[in-house]
Amino acid sequence: MIVKEDCLFCKIVAGTIPSKKVYEDEQILAFHDITPAAPVHVLLIPKKHIDSMNEVTQEDLPVIGHIHGVAIELAKELGVNTSGYRLINNCGPDSGQAVQHLHYHLLGGANLGALTG
Ligand code: C5P
Repeated sequence: MIVKEDCLFCKIVAGTIPSKKVYEDEQILAFHDITPAAPVHVLLIPKKHIDSMNEVTQEDLPVIGHIHGVAIELAKELGVNTSGYRLINNCGPDSGQAVQHLHYHLLGGANLGALTG
C-alpha cells in the first residue's frame, strides 16, 4: 500500500487521526466530513495515497469505479438517493482542493443549488 507520511488522509486511514467511519474495506474508506457543508457530507477515499485526480493511473481505475459504487450504496443508506445528491472531486488549486489525497465528497440532504448559474 502506498502511504505518504505527512498526509492527513493517510493518517485517517492508519487510524492515527480519528474519523467517523461510515464504510471501510481493503481498498477504500468513507467517513463523515469534519466540517459538513450539507446535512449529509461524506468523504470517500482510496486507502492508497494518490495526490489528486491528475495522478490517477490506468491501474487505479477499478478503485475509482469502486468508490462510485460505494457512493451509490451510501446515498441509499444515508437516505438521499431519492431527494438527490452530488458526488464531487476537487482537483488542483482552482478547484480549492485543500487535502492532497484523492477524495470524493458525497453531499446531500438539502437543495445544493446549481453548480453553474
Ligand atoms: O476537496 P477539499 O480538499 O477542499 O476537501 C477537503 C475536505 O476534508 C474538507 O471538506 C474538510 O472539511 C475535510 N477534512 C476532514 N477531516 C479532517 C480535515 C479535513 O473531513 N481532519
